[in-house]
Amino acid sequence: MTQPTDIRAEHLPTALSLAASGVPVMPLRAGKVPFGNCRRCADNACGGRPNMKSPGPCTCPQPCHGWAAATTETDVINSPTWVRAWRDAAAVAYHPGGAGLTVVDLDNPAAIAWARTSLPATRTVPTTRGEHWLYQGAMQSANAVRPGVDIKSSMQYARWLGPGTGTMAELPDVVRALVVREPRAVRPAAVAVPALAGGGECPHRTPAYLERGIAMAEQHITEAREAVHATVYRTFLAVLSTHGRCGCLTDAHVARLFAAARAKGESPRHCTDAWTNARTRLGL
Ligand SMILES: [Zn+2]
Ligand SMILES: [Zn+2]
Ligand SMILES: [Zn+2]
Repeated sequence: MTQPTDIRAEHLPTALSLAASGVPVMPLRAGKVPFGNCRRCADNACGGRPNMKSPGPCTCPQPCHGWAAATTETDVINSPTWVRAWRDAAAVAYHPGGAGLTVVDLDNPAAIAWARTSLPATRTVPTTRGEHWLYQGAMQSANAVRPGVDIKSSMQYARWLGPGTGTMAELPDVVRALVVREPRAVRPAAVAVPALAGGGECPHRTPAYLERGIAMAEQHITEAREAVHATVYRTFLAVLSTHGRCGCLTDAHVARLFAAARAKGESPRHCTDAWTNARTRLGL
């Protein structure tokens, strides 16, 4: 059996051969997660790398900023700082979107069974408990689009576990449709909670009806096990489609919904964006 030290020695050559074929690579440390940012890049103080969602000027020589460090530049991959990282690395990762690929990450046998009946056959790579299905074409990434299924493409990394077997198919619409696309706000999202349209009498009359609706929405968000952001957005949409026009929602109600979302890890900005987008979608 191959010893761990031998496996480690393989990382750099593997990374270089992937880079040569146009696949941006980066090292993963123990735990199969990206190396932490260096002190200069901590909390994105450097502004972030140029390829990030909000482009920054960072040219840090360390493998900082997760997926955004992934590169095909041989000089970077072979640099002294990266060579040190490869030496400590537990695995090689790549940026599928940067290689024009999408990885459907199937975490368990149930997810694989679903893929076999729902997705076109393509190249597959065995993982620890599941499989990666690789498609030609990049898309937006999203976690937990279904139980045990993640989409890893743009702005995401995937572990390199070998080339796999089978012929790679074009990215099908059925995979694209797995990612719930929240409509982009037509105007810049306000940072403060937008004031609700007042006027109009609540058609529901009883305060108990409103209270029950808010409590159910809180519970719905609190119980979300995956796809939290999509759940928050859909819940906001449901509350607003019932009470968005009657003016019976107060800032206190909105604050309760935001608090439930915050407790699930959504940022204040995420909450405000989801709320604004839901209002825009409903034409409020
Ligand atoms: Zn750095
Ligand atoms: Zn940086
Ligand atoms: Zn109402």
